[in-house]
Amino acid sequence: MLYRLKDAGYEAFLVGGGVRDLLLGREPKDFDVATDAHPEEIKAVFRNCRLIGRRFRLAHVHFGREIIEVATFRAQHSGDEAGGVIEEGRLVRDNVYGTVEDDAIRRDFTVNALYYNIKDFSVVDYAGGVEDLEAGMLRLIGEPEVRYREDAVRMLRAVRFAAKLGFRIHPEAEKPIFELGHLLTEIAPARLYEEVLKLFMGGSAVQSYELLGHYNLLQYLFPQTAALLENDQSGVFHALILRAMENTDIRIAAGKPVTPAFLYAVMMWMPMQQRAKELRREGMTEVQSICEAGGEVLSEQNRYVVFPKRFSLQTREIWQLQPRLKRTTGSGPLRLLGHPRFRAAYDFLLLRAEAGESHQELCDWWTEFQVENPDVIPQAASRAVPKKRPRRRSRKKPADTTSVSDSGESA
Ligand code: ATP
Ligand code: MG
Repeated sequence: MLYRLKDAGYEAFLVGGGVRDLLLGREPKDFDVATDAHPEEIKAVFRNCRLIGRRFRLAHVHFGREIIEVATFRAQHSGDEAGGVIEEGRLVRDNVYGTVEDDAIRRDFTVNALYYNIKDFSVVDYAGGVEDLEAGMLRLIGEPEVRYREDAVRMLRAVRFAAKLGFRIHPEAEKPIFELGHLLTEIAPARLYEEVLKLFMGGSAVQSYELLGHYNLLQYLFPQTAALLENDQSGVFHALILRAMENTDIRIAAGKPVTPAFLYAVMMWMPMQQRAKELRREGMTEVQSICEAGGEVLSEQNRYVVFPKRFSLQTREIWQLQPRLKRTTGSGPLRLLGHPRFRAAYDFLLLRAEAGESHQELCDWWTEFQVENPDVIPQAASRAVPKKRPRRRSRKKPADTTSVSDSGESA
């Protein structure tokens, strides 16, 4: 892509995390390209290109399943008529084209402002990023307080990069974080959701969680959670979260899938429990109380960080299955195995036991029960209900159903 832009007569650089991670010997998550070509000109160079964004037009160039973001150099100097628009210290518009130097100094950290130039294969460093990269230092470009006021998400980005790269946040960039966290309340909840995913599902959840705690930022992302953690005398809630974060990091390192539904089930568990307890005192049953409290705490949480409905429904299912997991007699357990959220609910139960909140014997029972019934998968849920199904048929035509196996028989 860089060559194509160059051959079409434009300047073309790889920039941002792509350059940073390559220089660190890490595998970049995505690639960003910066150029002096304007969006329409970029579109003319690449066939598989779409222009996106209203506030600032960007080109997305598709390569199979990959998308490379190509952006025209932008300028941003507060006060200058040539730059982005700042209102009450906040960056509200950021859509003025500039030179590559302009583009460099509007970026957040020096290590994120390195430009790999395809013309001569050099890395251009306008902000001292190479030195900071070698020192493992996250330094904001410009005056830290001003930069955080322009865009408070930069505080979360500082935490995220510190966690992910094992870098230190420079003392000058670190100090204002303790005072300016409240600015995060002005950030759109949908944008915060994106940041939450990057913090907790990017492979460094443990570090991210601990740093968020250290900088008192958790209260702006999960206010109900943070409030309870402060009074968590037994340490059970903290242990639960920490174990979940460890598991998440291990799963990601092993290339296994992780879901925001589970993350939220963990983070919002204690607030949900506390509310459910109140509702039970008012006369609700356990199942009712979990259902009602789950809805309440998640909709309260939505005011701060948006949580898409398809995941919040799953989170509530994980919670609602917890009391059902306590019953190990009758036909309930077998039916539960076929529930689409069984596996997540079981994992959640294990986590609760590890944190000292439920009984290990119960977990062992379920572990054993699954070993005994390996074929009771969600699609086969109805087959798991005993007695209703006549067995004769399967003998005559063994191939007509999906999985008639030994364990199916024993079920
Ligand atoms: P990664 O993709 O590994 O999470 P990244 O540094 O590439 O890290 P992106 O969110 O992909 O992060 O952003 C690409 C680049 O855009 C950054 O490296 C930085 O130069 C710039 N950038 C992103 N967000 C901001 C911001 N809020 N303020 C200033 N510059 C930013
Ligand atoms: Mg990136």
